[in-house]
Amino acid sequence: MKVQKCINCGTQFRYKSVQKSIWAGYKPIICFNCGAIHEFRFVYRLVVSLIIVLPMFFNQWISDIAPNLLVHTAMYFGYLFAAIGAMPYLIRYRLKNDNLE
Ligand SMILES: [Zn+2]
Repeated sequence: MKVQKCINCGTQFRYKSVQKSIWAGYKPIICFNCGAIHEFRFVYRLVVSLIIVLPMFFNQWISDIAPNLLVHTAMYFGYLFAAIGAMPYLIRYRLKNDNLE
């Protein structure tokens, strides 16, 4: 999987730009080559939230295999770290103005 390309000109977005966009509250990404504005697709906000809360559904199961709270917490943060690291490969943006060619 790759980081998304600009829909307008095909320039690959930088991994860091996508990360920054997520941390800034799903800020639109502006293509550094052609200036096309890409909005975060709403459905991916749900995906991001789901990925973050997902381990909470397995809390009981995680407690069973890692009864130590410290290990438990470390596992969760390890997961979170990996999940956030993979985020730019998972999420997709769309052009802000769909009639902008
Ligand atoms: Zn572009």
